[in-house]
Formats: sequence, C-alpha cells, structure tokens
Amino acid sequence: MHIDARELDNGSLIEGDICIIGAGAAGISIAFDWINTSHKVILLEGGGFEYDDQVQELYNGKLTGQNYYPMKSSRLHYFGGSSMHWGGMCSTFDDIDFEVRDWVENSGWPIKKDAFDAFYPAAHNILDLGIYEWDVNYWMRQDPKCIPLPLDPKIVWNKMWHFSPPTRFGTKYRDVIVNAKNIHLYTYANVVDIKATDNISSIKSVTVKNYAGKEHTVKAKYFILACCAIQNSRLLLASNKQAPAGLGNDNDLVGRYFMEHPELKTGELWLNTSDELKLYQFENVRAELAIVPEVQKELKILNGTISLNPLPLAQKVQSNVRTWNEEDPRKSLKKNQTDYGDAYKKSFFQRVIDRFSSKKEEKIFQAFELYTRIEQVPNPSSRVELSNEKDALGVPRANLHWAMQPIDKYTVRKLNELMGQLVGAAGIGRVKLYEFLRDENDSSMPDFTSGGWHHMGTTRMSEDPKKGVVDANCRMHGIDNLYVAGSSCFATGGAINPTLTVVAISLRLSDHIKAKM
Ligand SMILES: Cc1cc2nc3c(=O)[nH]c(=O)nc-3n(C[C@H](O)[C@H](O)[C@H](O)COP(=O)(O)OP(=O)(O)OC[C@H]3O[C@@H](n4cnc5c(N)ncnc54)[C@H](O)[C@@H]3O)c2cc1C
Repeated sequence: MHIDARELDNGSLIEGDICIIGAGAAGISIAFDWINTSHKVILLEGGGFEYDDQVQELYNGKLTGQNYYPMKSSRLHYFGGSSMHWGGMCSTFDDIDFEVRDWVENSGWPIKKDAFDAFYPAAHNILDLGIYEWDVNYWMRQDPKCIPLPLDPKIVWNKMWHFSPPTRFGTKYRDVIVNAKNIHLYTYANVVDIKATDNISSIKSVTVKNYAGKEHTVKAKYFILACCAIQNSRLLLASNKQAPAGLGNDNDLVGRYFMEHPELKTGELWLNTSDELKLYQFENVRAELAIVPEVQKELKILNGTISLNPLPLAQKVQSNVRTWNEEDPRKSLKKNQTDYGDAYKKSFFQRVIDRFSSKKEEKIFQAFELYTRIEQVPNPSSRVELSNEKDALGVPRANLHWAMQPIDKYTVRKLNELMGQLVGAAGIGRVKLYEFLRDENDSSMPDFTSGGWHHMGTTRMSEDPKKGVVDANCRMHGIDNLYVAGSSCFATGGAINPTLTVVAISLRLSDHIKAKM
C-alpha cells in the first residue's frame, strides 16, 4: 500500500516490524523479498514517484579533491533511486577481491565471494540480466565471431559483463510494491534523525520530515538504512544528539573510505588486420580484459579491467566527468547522451568515408581505444563529511572529498604497459599509451578521470569495530537492530560496477533478518 507522508496528520506514529529507509535498488529488493510474509514492512522514501527538484536539492553539497560529478546530480532522490538513470552494466566480484592482499592497504572482507554466490542468481533475475552465465567459453560457443584476443592466458583472462535493459526499479517494481498488503510504502518521508536507546545499543525510532512541514515518528523492531553510500553515512553522522560523533562512529570510520571506480581513456590498440573484436563489443553481454590474481600479486597492483571500443567512435566521446557537470541530473544525463549520440552519428559517417578511403589504417575495426576501470585502494582520507550548512529539512549537508593514492595510478599504468607487452608478444599489433602514463614519478590521476557514479565504502564491513562500521551481516557494530544495505558496506570495490552486488548483498541481509524474525 502507498501513503503520501505529506497527507498524514502532523506528528503521526507509524509502526511496523521492519523499517527500510530508502527505496532504491537496495531498499526495493529487500521489500520485494518480504511481500506476502506475515510481517509489516515500512518502506520510507524521501521523494515521490517522479523527479522533484526540491527533494533532489537535499542532495546538494560541496566537492573537494579529485574532479567529480556535482553532488546534486550524481544520484537520484525519488522512488527507484539512481536506478532511474543507471546504465545497466553488471559483473560479479572475483575471489581475490575478498582477500587480505598485503600489497593493498585496508583490503580484506570478513566474508568470501561464496557468500554472494548464493544470491547473485536472484539478483541477476531482478535486474533482468538474462541467462546466468559468466563463462567466456559459453559466449564463444554462441557466436563463432566471438573470438578472444590471443593474449597469454597465464596473465590475462576475459571477464564477462551483462547489460540490464536497464531495469528501472521505480517503474518495474512500483505496482508490485504498492499492491502488496504488508508493504507500507511512505513517499515524501525523508528520514532526518535516528533515535537510539539511552545506552545507544538499539534504535528506538526514526524521524521523518517533508516540505509540507510534517514530522512523523517511525518505530520498528529492525531498521535498515538503504539510502546509498553518501546518504547512509550522512544520516549516521547527522544523528549526533546522543552520540556526538554520530551513530556507530566511535572509531571515526563512518563516511571514510569512500571509493569509486576510476575509469579513463588510457591508450590505443592498433591491430595488424581489421577485426571487429565482437567478443568485446556491447550487445547484452561483452568481455573485458582482466589480469589473473597471481600477476596482480606479483606486480602489486589492484584489480582492474580494460574494455576495447572502436577508436573512431571512442575518440569522439568526451569523458563522463566533462559532460555530467550540470547540477540538475536530468540535464547532465541529456548532455551525456547527446555526446554519445553525436559520436555515434559522426563515427557512422566516418565508417562510410572509410569504405571509400585508401587510408586503410583508419578503418573502424582496426584501431580500438583502451578504456581502463580499476578498483581504488580503500583510503581513509577519501570521505564524506558533514557541512556546516543545513538543507531545507534541517539536516547538515554532506560534503565529499574524493582522494586517490599512488597505487591507483600505478595500477592504471601497469595494466596498460602489460597490455602493450602482451599484444607485442602475440604479434597481433601495437599498443600506444597516452601521454599522462609516461612519467613514472607522476602519481596523480588526470582531471578527465571519471567515476561510474558508484559510491562505496563509507560504512565498510569488518568483524573488528576498529576497522569497520558493520559486521559480516551488515549490522552496525554495537547497535543490535540497525543494519545497512548496499555498497556503503563494501570493504573493497572490485573492478566491477556495483549494482548486481548491491542487490545480492541486500537479499543476503534480508535472509539474515528473516532468520532472526
Ligand atoms: C548515471 C548513472 C549511471 C550508473 N550506471 C551504472 C551501471 O552501469 N552499473 C552499475 O552497476 N551501477 C550503475 N550506477 C550506480 C547504481 O545506480 C547504484 O549502484 C544503485 O542505484 C544503488 O542503489 P541503492 O538502492 O543502494 O541507492 P540509490 O539508488 O541511491 O537509492 C537510495 C534511495 O534512498 C532514498 N533516500 C535517500 N535519502 C533518504 C532519506 N533520508 N530518507 C528516505 N529516503 C532516502 C533515495 O531517494 C533513493 O530512492 C549508475 C548510477 C548513475 C547515477
């Protein structure tokens, strides 16, 4: 059922068994999992069913550090959350991502990949990713043109990606949530404060507010924060009436270790002969080049992948951080799509010209851009902090400082150098690295480095409260009924887009609470 919290009498008391805060991919996946159970689920969403600029404005904040997307437009504040803009690219974590790697500071999760393997298939289904098949050999059998580059398999492997249509949670799952009798969805119910018992061992209630000037109280046995990484940490830090440093922040970890996936154009692959490299091109699934764990260890690098995009097209596409620069996310999206659209048009004309051109080296399927995406090392100085300025509902705004470490740039350089060596050894062509990678003493990332709009790590997982905010079950250390869902719990980010794992970790959390109930 759906209730607009602006229509309730001021000071209403809302009660249920479970209270989920935030109706994005994480929150909706959990609510979905409880439909037709005997439990009353309260789903609180700060926005409505459509984009609302007044609500979106609550996301505004300041940026420092590495060049990034405006705070107001890097995520969405209404039912469905950022899934209403996401691109749909998905892949799974690798085993190595969960290990303590002595060359990667602050690495290691308290769980292994198999903790997610049980939930990935259901998450895959929720995201409409088609057949659950990640083995490159399967995809090669589907199409004889899908042939991997003949690079040394002891060093490089082909990591598969699936593309969601992309599933828009706010559209696809709206009716099923609204029609479920035991799911009570409240829109325009912005959580502004979390109240704990006197000894701060348990959560008693949360306070919701909206622009209609209404304030309500929500009580439940279990609370799940599912507002995404920046907002989860902001809410915990801002709930500081009882715990002055913020809830669950006795060890000064909430908001720290903010991670993105730095991604950027790093070089060009020039093949000796024209080849479509179909296995690596987007068509519901595709492969990217990744480095085997043993070589990551030997080179002391992070995990990362390289995708191959036809150069005449890729050269015309600007980096995302250059086009996604409007405060209004709809305008940023439009600019970004227009840039891609124009590039496609221009590269189509180039293809026609190529057909009649004698300049064979410029043929569209002979040269490819190397586009590198890496995990970034968990870095305590990369962080979300509260601003002195408050939003219209009285909550301190979140400021973001995105910061990288030398190992991040080192990884980008090594991955691409390695690719050059492998391509040379295979005798299939040449790799040209871009200028910014040449100076080995320069550990800065160029200002055209983009992120994937992936916000992770601000309530990181560890069994040790001195090293992490949540435990292996995503429960806040020291607070028995407060859980966190989504990528803020990631201890490291892997070299994958996060949403498939966001849904998987949310379903795993849901299962855990079911067992407790
Ligand atoms: C342009 C773009 C492209 C992307 N492309 C990809 C991609 O290709 N692949 C991929 O894996 N990921 C991609 N992502 C990231 C993906 O969208 C996120 O990983 C995913 O949406 C996170 O889901 P979530 O539910 O954790 O958070 P969100 O989607 O941010 O949802 C949080 C929800 O909480 C609500 N909320 C916030 N604060 C409050 C509050 N105080 N009270 C109540 N409710 C609140 C919000 O309104 C929102 O509905 C992209 C993101 C963007 C913006």
